[in-house]
Amino acid sequence: MGQLEILKFPDPRLRRKCKPVRKVTEELKEFAKEMLATMYAYRGIGLAAAQVNRLERLIVIDTRRPEGDDAETRYELGDETELEKKITQPLILFNPVIKKKDGKTTYSEGCLSVPTYFEIVERAKHIVVEALDENGEVVNFEADGLLAICIQHEIDHLEGKLFIDRLSPIKSLRVKAKIKKFGYPDPNKDRDEEEVTDSQHRL
Ligand code: ZN
Repeated sequence: MGQLEILKFPDPRLRRKCKPVRKVTEELKEFAKEMLATMYAYRGIGLAAAQVNRLERLIVIDTRRPEGDDAETRYELGDETELEKKITQPLILFNPVIKKKDGKTTYSEGCLSVPTYFEIVERAKHIVVEALDENGEVVNFEADGLLAICIQHEIDHLEGKLFIDRLSPIKSLRVKAKIKKFGYPDPNKDRDEEEVTDSQHRL
């Protein structure tokens, strides 16, 4: 299965609003699997269709604790919550909508479309989500912890919004200007820089 190309800020295609999926077709199911394969290849925990140049409202997520060396680094938030444990991952969600949200939490977010940057973003702590699963069935569930943060981050992508839009206005401008001026570090040349961020997650 080939990897998909991930669009990077400031690519204007990341700013398009995605459209609801009318029917979960075989092609869309296949595509969701390619998205998951791409997400895992880049060691991300979430990916939205908008990031791979598609306009469907589709997100894929896997925030589970990885095996082995990464086991201690999954969270800054603490261990997997009881709500998270109840949810089978990976998640493939079409037309995800947040029906209810409450509380506040912060997390140092990264993004596969803004590689090597991590910034503290505030999100709702607890959410109720409705979506279609990969079989086109309606699903409703509650989430908190890293999973809730990730779902909110991915739904933002479907609206053409990035985590760097959610910083203070000054910080947001500064980060965007820096990326526009200098681009992103070369992963081959600047490997050390990438190592430092291994405990953080790209959503
Ligand atoms: Zn992202």
